[in-house]
Amino acid sequence: DLVDASLARIQETDDKLGAFLKVDEEGARERAKKLDEAGNVLPLAALPMGIKDNISTQNVLTTAGSKILGEYTPVYDATVMEKLTHAGANMVGKLNMDEFGMGSSNENSGYYPVRNPWDLSRVPGGSSGGAAAAVAAGQVRFALGSDTGGSIRQPAAFCGVVGLKPTYGRVSRYGLIAFASSLDQIGPLTANVEDAAHVLEAIAGFDHRDSTSANVDTVQYSAALTGDIKGLKVAVPKEFLGEGVADGVKENVKQALKVFTELGAEVEEVSLPHAEYAVATYYLLSPAEASSNLARYDGVRFGTRVEGENLIDMYCRTRSAGFGDEVKRRIMLGTYALSSGYYDAYYVKAQKVRTLIQQDFEGIFNHYDVVVGPTSPTTAFKMGEKTSDPLTMYLNDICTIPVSLAGLPAISVPCGLADGLPVGLQIVGKPFDEAEVLKVAHAYE
Ligand code: GLN
Repeated sequence: DLVDASLARIQETDDKLGAFLKVDEEGARERAKKLDEAGNVLPLAALPMGIKDNISTQNVLTTAGSKILGEYTPVYDATVMEKLTHAGANMVGKLNMDEFGMGSSNENSGYYPVRNPWDLSRVPGGSSGGAAAAVAAGQVRFALGSDTGGSIRQPAAFCGVVGLKPTYGRVSRYGLIAFASSLDQIGPLTANVEDAAHVLEAIAGFDHRDSTSANVDTVQYSAALTGDIKGLKVAVPKEFLGEGVADGVKENVKQALKVFTELGAEVEEVSLPHAEYAVATYYLLSPAEASSNLARYDGVRFGTRVEGENLIDMYCRTRSAGFGDEVKRRIMLGTYALSSGYYDAYYVKAQKVRTLIQQDFEGIFNHYDVVVGPTSPTTAFKMGEKTSDPLTMYLNDICTIPVSLAGLPAISVPCGLADGLPVGLQIVGKPFDEAEVLKVAHAYE
């Protein structure tokens, strides 16, 4: 019944939303039947889920939102897919996204944009825009997204749902199509915090197939949701409520801070002195890693081939036709930052600033339990509003990127409306303390 309802809802709404790149109707119905026969006893039994299209799904097309992978069907499941299948969840389809995760509005999908269910003339955020829209529109019970610089949290904020980016290393990246390997992390988008805890419980944990996966014990996240945050020490970086943050966003976040105080928490202002360099740092490091990761799409091992006169010509034609403009821009930026003569000036320098940003957070976490602020400086913007100016688009991730560079766990929870559009509250925790992040989010929610 759950799957029937999910498929019906997709049928009814997805022409307008474009959240799905592929609906696996037949597979979903077959799995539902098997789960029924087995008595639906598993923890996530038969819950319909959508999976971002950069997560490998065995025998189901996986394009990462790119034309270059337009015909790519993985022969194996990502670890997170294996784990969710064991927990009984049922995938109804693959979700639209910005090509290879590069974008903040879903307008960089190689196929079609996603629209925000709250207002179809607005973007759902990105790059997990399909995931956020699908959950917001009730097409699926939950979705998996990936977050490199904000791609789970910002779309969750724009669509009024919950989005959790776990600590780097908490969830296996095996089977995730790489964008920037030192930042990429998979996490859930859900309708509420309790669901996020249950999904994290299913996907977290060490995986010997991912060399950056952390061998750190997981806990029962759903048991952490006690509602009690008396005495909690909350830090609010002044940089997150400064210039450039829309008034409506500021007001709602300040309102949320009052709720924390009423719940017995102590809220204090702090500073992240290096946060102002985070966007610049991210736009050196992530394209550098991307330029290396995307070298594999050469029309030989991966990628839809366009024939040429010789090998080099074939590479050129394949990559020219297969990649979109933003992906090409990042490959050029990254190749430049890594080239000899510039490597020390850009890449090495950016790595040093990354360490300073990490240290800013470490200093705060010596005295506080969580860091709180807006997820995004604005609510969902109009489609087309920022497409002609990549820098304005990049600046939209100003609140999420510092957290990504520090590798910390963070959640976005809905925090009221500004002019009828959802605002997101970001709660950031200490490394591997997803339990605390979830507990605080749940108490606030
Ligand atoms: N919007 C950011 C970018 O374009 C972050 C994307 C992400 O987290 N995948 O890189």
